Amino acid sequence: MECLICKNGTTNKGFDTISFEKNGHLIIVRNVPGEVCNNCGYFYIDDTVAIELQKKQKKRLPMV
Ligand SMILES: [Zn+2]
Repeated sequence: MECLICKNGTTNKGFDTISFEKNGHLIIVRNVPGEVCNNCGYFYIDDTVAIELQKKQKKRLPMV
């Protein structure tokens, strides 16, 4: 898809590492599937994965 951030690149399937804080602990999740912009490198997390992670932590993920 077209990148919504830079509007110049297109995104390809890829993996990234995301981190968030829960109860004062830093949680790091590696190899999260999503799409990566080939221009600016912005990582779009898959909706289904975001929902799964939200279920676990019950709050919205910051987009990294
Ligand atoms: Zn981009």
